[in-house]
Amino acid sequence: MMDLLIPDKTHDESRQGEALMLNAETAKNNGRKLYIESYGCAMNFSDSEIVASILAESGFETTTDHTSADVIFINTCSIRENAEQRVRNRLKEFTVTKVKNPGLVVGVLGCMAERLKSKFLEEEKLVDVVVGPDAYRDLPNLIDQVDSGQKAVNVLLSREETYADISPVRLNSNGINAFVSIMRGCDNMCSFCVVPFTRGRERSRDPLSIEAECRDLFDRGYREVTLLGQNVDSYKYSTGEDDNKITTNFADLLELVALINPDLRVRFSTSHPKDITDDVLYTINKYDNICNYIHLPVQSGNSRVLELMNRTYDREWYINRIDAIRRIIPDCAISTDVITGFCSETEEEHKDTVSMMDYVKYDFAYMFKYSERPGTLAAKRYADDIPEDVKQKRLTEIVAKQQEYSFYRMQSRIGKVERVLIEGFSKKSDKDYAGRSDQNAMVIFPVGEGYKPGEYVNVLVERSTTATLIGKVV
Ligand code: SAM
Ligand code: SF4
Repeated sequence: MMDLLIPDKTHDESRQGEALMLNAETAKNNGRKLYIESYGCAMNFSDSEIVASILAESGFETTTDHTSADVIFINTCSIRENAEQRVRNRLKEFTVTKVKNPGLVVGVLGCMAERLKSKFLEEEKLVDVVVGPDAYRDLPNLIDQVDSGQKAVNVLLSREETYADISPVRLNSNGINAFVSIMRGCDNMCSFCVVPFTRGRERSRDPLSIEAECRDLFDRGYREVTLLGQNVDSYKYSTGEDDNKITTNFADLLELVALINPDLRVRFSTSHPKDITDDVLYTINKYDNICNYIHLPVQSGNSRVLELMNRTYDREWYINRIDAIRRIIPDCAISTDVITGFCSETEEEHKDTVSMMDYVKYDFAYMFKYSERPGTLAAKRYADDIPEDVKQKRLTEIVAKQQEYSFYRMQSRIGKVERVLIEGFSKKSDKDYAGRSDQNAMVIFPVGEGYKPGEYVNVLVERSTTATLIGKVV
């Protein structure tokens, strides 16, 4: 059974550790093979495509079999401690491959590389090369350095690098949805978060290069792009001098991409509650092909905790933004991220998060226990003083609450007709197709004559689970 990939979420658990394969053949071929495995958020998966593209230029082919590789790269995530542990465990598994092939180059890329720098080489003897997220252009040189018998490190962060000119290659693509990075880094200093340290200062990519990439994807048959950034609402790109300066903000960029073709769906992630403007909401509402779905991480429903988290908004502000979404975009799905057991969070304050969930009735949520990250503001200033069992109890409570609301949202679609972009066969059966609705709900319906992956169909929803709508084409 052909099971097409559905890159649905910005952090897709089912894709963690996935080995990526270049669809196209490399123009030059140096006879060496690259195996690249990715962890973490969609940004990392998108970066792995940049890495593969840079190495394809130097003649590397890709492989999904690490035992036949000449270079093994792991693109890592540092966001929580268990993400790092996972990578360390995985590295151990490559030891045998290295013993069999002493010429093998093992590299660690991404956030963990940036956080640990050359310490990584001391801690994990297997590793030959450590490369941070802004240094991927240097990879061919770094591999040469390892080939000549040295270890290699480049963890320089940049204020300019956006890889805007790297012609995109797509790894493991279904040929229908693609991620497009529109900015890198983050200038917010949420106290729990390691990203500003591992990905550096925020910088936006030239809108014309974003438009060109999206247009090229559309011309090659892609029908959905997800614009990626840690805080897409602060996207800002200026050209020209003083009086003739033209600035493109996120609302302008959305419009630019939406105008490429009405059949190109536009999604984006992640929005920040402090920056999302009514202007952006009006633009979403103006274009049918900008999807009615916003991921708006709340983290906590309590204003004191939000202040400790340095999120720079409070409960009232967040509710005001939710109300604006409901007012300006009728029928918009909203999802969120929540952290339980942040430093000094009381039971009462936790209840405020629960009541926020009651207020918004999120369609979907990513929920995490607070994990202290070395070097962050919270690690320096506050004690990680909520016992593990209390963090877990609070997490279990909000997970149960979210299940209720996911089911409620799904049930509310029964009897409605959804416009679905077909992405491939359903994971369970090749008798059914799967695709997403405008609101990002997974929709399953029988395979039939006259429609195929990459096309839109109208599906009447007949029933649902907590995560899936089930229906028939009408
Ligand atoms: N830039 C996005 C934002 O501001 O919401 C999210 C970036 S982060 C990759 C994704 C999510 O991981 C965050 O929204 C937060 O809920 C979670 N997260 C980040 N640091 C964490 C930590 N130290 N412990 C637990 N969860 C964390
Ligand atoms: Fe981390 Fe906050 Fe930046 Fe998101 S906005 S990446 S949570 S610092």
